[in-house]
This record gives sequence, C-alpha cells and structure tokens, in this order.
Amino acid sequence: MALLTLKDVGKIYVSDGNVSVGIRGVNLSFDRGEFVAVTGKSGSGKSTLLNVISGMDSYEEGELYIEGQPTSHYMQYDWEQYRKEYISFIFQDYNIIESFTVLQNVELSLMHISDKKERRKRALELLDRVGMTSHIKHKGSKLSGGQKQRTVIARALAKDSPIILADEPTGNLDSATSKEIIELLREVSKDKLLIVVTHNFEQVEQCATRHIRVFDGAIESDHVISHVEAVKETASQEKLSKSEKRRGSGDIRNGIALGRAIFGATPKLSFFFCMLMIIGALGIFLVTSLCASASEIFEKSYMFERIDGRVIITTRDGSVISSEDAKKLADDFGADSYLRYDVLLDEEYANRAKISLGGGRYDFIDIRCTYNEDFGDDIIGRYPKKDGEVFLYLPISQQDNFGKDAIETDKIQLNNVEVEVVGIKYFYDNNLDAKCLLTEKGFDTITAMYYLCVRSYPNITLYGNSDKNMGNRNMILSSYDLEDSKIFIPDISKNNGVSSVSIDASYQKYDYYGSIDHSNDVFSVQKIFGEEYFSDGKLKINTYGEPSSSIIVMSPDLVREIAFEVLEKSYRQMSLFYENNEEASEAAKKLYDAGYIAVTSEATYEPDAFEIIVGLISGIMMAFLWVMAIIFLAFFIGLCSSRTLGAFKGDMAIMRSMGIPVRSIKVGMYVRMLMALIPAYICVCAAAYLIFTSPSANEHFVYLYAWHYAVIFVGMLLLTVRITRKQVKKLFDTSVKKSLKGGAAE
Ligand code: ADP
Ligand code: MG
Repeated sequence: MALLTLKDVGKIYVSDGNVSVGIRGVNLSFDRGEFVAVTGKSGSGKSTLLNVISGMDSYEEGELYIEGQPTSHYMQYDWEQYRKEYISFIFQDYNIIESFTVLQNVELSLMHISDKKERRKRALELLDRVGMTSHIKHKGSKLSGGQKQRTVIARALAKDSPIILADEPTGNLDSATSKEIIELLREVSKDKLLIVVTHNFEQVEQCATRHIRVFDGAIESDHVISHVEAVKETASQEKLSKSEKRRGSGDIRNGIALGRAIFGATPKLSFFFCMLMIIGALGIFLVTSLCASASEIFEKSYMFERIDGRVIITTRDGSVISSEDAKKLADDFGADSYLRYDVLLDEEYANRAKISLGGGRYDFIDIRCTYNEDFGDDIIGRYPKKDGEVFLYLPISQQDNFGKDAIETDKIQLNNVEVEVVGIKYFYDNNLDAKCLLTEKGFDTITAMYYLCVRSYPNITLYGNSDKNMGNRNMILSSYDLEDSKIFIPDISKNNGVSSVSIDASYQKYDYYGSIDHSNDVFSVQKIFGEEYFSDGKLKINTYGEPSSSIIVMSPDLVREIAFEVLEKSYRQMSLFYENNEEASEAAKKLYDAGYIAVTSEATYEPDAFEIIVGLISGIMMAFLWVMAIIFLAFFIGLCSSRTLGAFKGDMAIMRSMGIPVRSIKVGMYVRMLMALIPAYICVCAAAYLIFTSPSANEHFVYLYAWHYAVIFVGMLLLTVRITRKQVKKLFDTSVKKSLKGGAAE
C-alpha cells in the first residue's frame, strides 16, 4: 500500500469573484524512500500541491489517501493530528520562530517527548546531524539563511514524520549552500518520503529519485529517475493511536510549557506585557481605593457611641440620678458595670489628645477615651495600672509620633490632664477609631476636666493676704505628678503674697440629647483653696507652648471634687453596660417599664433621608466610575496588546504548520499572559504593604479589606482572560496558510 495517494484531486481558489485553478485532476502515488522533485513555471500549482498534501489547504475534488485511509471527511482537528503525525514542512523563507533559540525551535517539535532531559538530548542529536551544534543558543533572528534552513531541517526531523515537504527550500540561498542543504535533506530522509518543489532542477538532479513536472495545475510528466527499494513501514500508525489517547492532558501540559517558552523567548514583549498589567493592576487598585473611601458615606451614624451592650438612661421628669441611685439601678437591673458621667463616650470634642511633636510644637489627635477594654496581648509596653497612666490604641500613622517599640515616658494631655503613656498598640485599619484606655478613676478625671475646662469657663482669682487681688489665671491644668489635694502655681511662690485661690465654675444644664437647655437653671460652685493646698515642690509640666503665667495646675482629686459637685446636681444621664445587645435591649425595656427613658446605643441610629439619598447617589456613581475605569483599562490594555499580535501571528502559523495542536497554542497564549500578571499581583501586594504599613502613607489612603483585594485580583484575572481571548480569536481567524508568508502565491 502506498504511503500517500492522490486521486483526481482538484483545488480551486475563489477570491473576489475570480476563480483560479490551483491544481486539477492530480493522480499521484508516493512511497517512503522517494525523493521527488517537483518543477514547473511560477503559478503552475506546485505550492498548491504541497499545501494540499500537507493538509494546510483543503481540496474540493477527488480524494487524498494516507496509508490507504481517505481524508475528505477530515475536520480541523483531524488535519491537525494528520500534520502532527505525518508532515514536516520546509519553506522557502525558513519559517523559523525568530524569537526562539535554535534549540528551542527544535525542542518545540519534540513536545511529544514528555521527559525534559530526553527531549534535550534528542534535540542536541538532531542539531548535530544538521551541523548546528555550535549555534544552539543563537536566536533564530541571528542566523544566516543556510543556518535557518538547517535548523528547520532538524526541526522537521525532530518530528520523525514519514513525509517531508519542502517548498523551494533553497530559493533564497546561494548555489553552494543550496547544494549542501539538498544533500543534507537527502541524507537525513533516506527512509522518508521527501517532496521538494524547486525551480532549479539541476540542483536536485543528483539526489532525486523521481521528477514531476507541473503545468497549469495538472501533472505534465512523472519520471522515475532511479528505483527506490521499498522501505518498511514505521510504527507511525501505532504511534498515532497512542498519542491520540493522551491528547487532552498532553496538549495542556505542552501548552503550559509553550507559554513559558514564549514568555522567556520574547523578553521585551513580556516586559511590555508585565508593565501593561502593572499599570492595569495599580489602576484598579487606585480606583478601588477611591471608591472605598467614597463609600464611607454609607456608614451608619449613631447618636450615641455604639458600644455593644450599652444602655443610656435618663429620668422622665428630668430629675438628676444621684450616684447612689446609679449604683442601685445597676444592681437592680443586672448590669455588668455602669458609668455615671458618660459624656466622654459620646462627645467628639471631649475626645482629643494634645500631643507634643517636640520643639514646642503640638498636635491634636481624635481619640476615644475608654476604660474596661481589652486590646489583647500583643501590645507594646503594658496596660495602665495607675490613674495617671494610659494605653493608646493608635493608627500606624501615629508611629512617627510615639515610636516603634519602647515607651519612653511619653506624656499626652487629655482635656488638659497630663497623663503618661505606658502602652501602645498600633493598628493598620485606618477606618477604626483611635482609643485611649484609662483606669476607671482616670476616666473620671478626664470627664471632670472636660466639664471644668471646656463646658465651664472657670474664673480663677489669686488673692493675697487681706483679700488683695493678685491677678487672674485663665486656665486649669491637671497632673498626676502633683500630690493629692495640691495646687501648683507657676511663676508665683506663696512668699510673693498669694494666700488663697478662688475658683468659680458654672455649667449650663444639658438636656437628654446633649444640647444646652437654656430654659433651666445654671449650676455653679465657688471653691477657695488656702495656702495649705499649695504645692511647694517643683512641677515639670509640659504645657506645649502655653504660657505658664496664665495657668494653675491642680491635682486630679481636686478637679474631680469641683466638677462632680456640680455634675451630681446637674448631669441627668448615665450608661449601663451588659454582656451583649440582646441583654441590653431587654434591660432597656424593663427600665422603660420602671419609669425611665432607656435606649440602647444600637437603637439610636437615625437614618437621615437626605443623607441616604446623597449616599445612594454617590454610591451608584462610584460603582459606575469603578466599572468605567475597568472598561477603560480593559480597552487600553487590549489596544496595546493587540498591536503586538502581528509579530506573533507568523510564529503561531509556523507552530500550527508544525502540527502543534491549536489547543496547546491557545493554552500557551493564556499562560504567557497570566505569567505577565504575576508581577502585577506582586506590585499590588507591595503597594498595599507599603501604603498600609508605612506610617506616613497609612493616613492618606483608605484601608482596603481582604475582599477589596479579592475584587482587584479577580478583576485583573478576568481582564487578562478576556484580552487573551480576544487575541486568540484574532489569531485563529486567519487560516494557517494565509498567515504563513511563503505559503501561498499572492
Ligand atoms: P506555484 O507555487 O507553482 O507558483 P501556486 O500553487 O502558488 O503556484 O498557485 C497556483 C495557482 O493558484 C495560481 O494561479 C495562483 O494564482 C492560484 N492561487 C494560489 N493561492 C491562491 C489563493 N490563496 N487565492 C487565490 N488564488 C490562489
Ligand atoms: Mg509557489
């Protein structure tokens, strides 16, 4: 049985309404071991004949038999398999993959060998056979014509296919090199069918065993020059079925290897893709960050600080809850703890810490005072033990001010009370509030000072002996460094004639919602402190630039004494704390039944219609912006990357002509693009790491959560897959033959 038989095969080209005959009525039969020279005028149909035999061109008439099997019913996949098993093609203009090295070009056709070492060994053997050993590391683009053709021959041999087709393989070579190439071809294809199209029959005369002349698409003559001994069939049939079984996983595995090879072989292009992906990823990152900051508008606003398990109570008739009443209420209604004066929990202005920046400069940070809270074990320093000590829970951006590890007796002022920082924990999520943990009594002091200095403007008068006015001071500071029940008067010693200090404090009454109730009485106290209260020690107080001649410093217990005397008469609200919100709302119900106004902080969220509408609109706009940005990025990346397709089109056609399955090439394309995505992902992680761990950057960017990153990563992945899909589609729109430069007469 002949290896290859053509029976009445005809091929007609129809283009732009013109019909031209490629070949017609061709009847030929070929066997292994033949060296067939095909000659004929230009346009006579030589290339068409080879293209039909190779399966790169379809035929309309007749039948092509391969080892006795008809092929007219073949679909694309069958032709791929056919090419993979039977055909090696050598073109006039070489069709070497220029970006690949000689070795890679050959290894590409050895993909059927799954063992890498074995593959390398075989490639080196073949390159030795064609005399290219010294050039294996050279890129295709750097070779001479003869060297390219040798590489292509090695590649053709690598496939070990029974049929080698060569379309004017020496067309671009000088005569000496041409002779070498023909001899090489002859030498390496002794047991194969070799069909060479040439316009120069003399060149092949010596080697050819058969000469076919083509004229006007038909066979003009067919001579046998020398008889060929029948060559035994190789086991190619067997191989076909075996490789077919493994085609699925093998194709994908080869595709992955191919993608990696393409990525590495085209470093400039790969770098370009990587940059493109990095731009895309950082773009998505920025847009996501922008949208996340805008969506903060959605955050609920509570009238009272949301603390789980908190119940706020006040009396219905507006009467004051005394300290004893407070304690009794907490006991009666089963609260875990209670807070008589809870203003610090809610009021913005009461929760600011004045911090020293050094050199007399200072700054304020918003910080929520708490007590009874736990921040875990991984803290810097320790929790407060004394009333004058605080533990700070701060955003990482504050690390510049407070330092990284050791607490070097930093002092801060909370409502004019100087306290010592003994522990810190930094957090990265800058959506959270900064907090300042105090002891219970320490908390009370801050509350008292808030009332004394912010809600009240105390008149501070210094008197000398016999009530002589020695002047006024306008500010009270408090420090734990001062002994209990002592007052320190900077700049004036008692010897200078001051014998007593009078402090008048008066506060407005506040209603349930915290606004000033003008209709009601103003509570005031006057306290006069004699010499026995004066501190004669030296007090180093950091006033952060406050002129000391305008202040007096009072010990915390005195501050509490003055403030609470008034509060006891005027403060009409308190907080009870329960295990959780359910217990809190149950208690609130009972308290309500018992005649109090009681609400949980959870229940005080009041949606403001305007706020909701603004939030909704801006939310929709942000989502729209996000989507638009992604579409723009996809468009941009797609545009940039499609510019690079031209270069790849030829390579891909070569691969296809070599019989590398479309699936492998497609997988290769995806793998290449996904590899370009890796640096982009690394960049996003690095950017995120920098932004959210670098103290100076942390405050300028909205903190993104894991799900934001998931959105970014998935977004990039989808973007890449989509772009690659478009590329692949474009690449495979055109047939192999069209994409090949020398494949068809144009
Ligand atoms: P040769 O290789 O012998 O120079 P070809 O096989 O390339 O000749 O061409 C044979 C005939 O088929 C020519 O008339 C040519 O115009 C026509 N032909 C070849 N390829 C195409 C094509 N892609 N579209 C239209 N006509 C074609
Ligand atoms: Mg031709």
